[in-house]
Amino acid sequence: MKKENINTIIKLFEEEYGQAECTLDYINPLHLMIATQLAAQCTDARVNMITPALFKRYGTAGDFMNADRGELEDLIRSTGFFRNKAKNIIACCTMLVNEFGGEVPQNMESLLKLPGVGRKTTNLVLGDAFGIPGIVVDTHAGRLSRRIGFTNETDPAKVERDLAKQIPKDKWIILGHWFVDHGRAVCNSRKPKCEICTIAPLCRYQKNL
Ligand code: SF4
Repeated sequence: MKKENINTIIKLFEEEYGQAECTLDYINPLHLMIATQLAAQCTDARVNMITPALFKRYGTAGDFMNADRGELEDLIRSTGFFRNKAKNIIACCTMLVNEFGGEVPQNMESLLKLPGVGRKTTNLVLGDAFGIPGIVVDTHAGRLSRRIGFTNETDPAKVERDLAKQIPKDKWIILGHWFVDHGRAVCNSRKPKCEICTIAPLCRYQKNL
């Protein structure tokens, strides 16, 4: 995409959504990491309903490491795929305790070693918990990036790579949140509302209609 068009899109998103934030509730990096794992194949709203009780019961990586698996599964059951998620959370927190002093590491290489933690979670935690630029490619970011014309790729890692080449680094964190807000409010998966979309004149999908 042309640089001037990218800058205009950024400006329009900024005007529309401002300082958008992560819609998962959390109070520390560990809780954000776990909430993000729970949000896989689930909505943030649903995750936010169960995390207050979850984080009250398990406050630290050590607490999760020592959790009774059945009890943990019960607490996260409504987020779906709860057996696998519980298994990964316990394994992830065991590694945090054994290799990282119980703290969430602040670099991609270490985060990617943790069970159940992929690039999406890594970039979200780096960006929102530590302010380290990362581009979160979730379902909204992938869909919007393809429609707008930032990429033709479907593999999230390749979408992330294409976005990183085009988007100024100081906008990487906020861009992920704008994609979520715009994807929910306007550029829906089934039927995008192009007629009310502020970036429509610059969007590849709209031009090809
Ligand atoms: S013009 Fe349509 S397809 Fe493009 S971003 Fe807006 S809503 Fe989505």
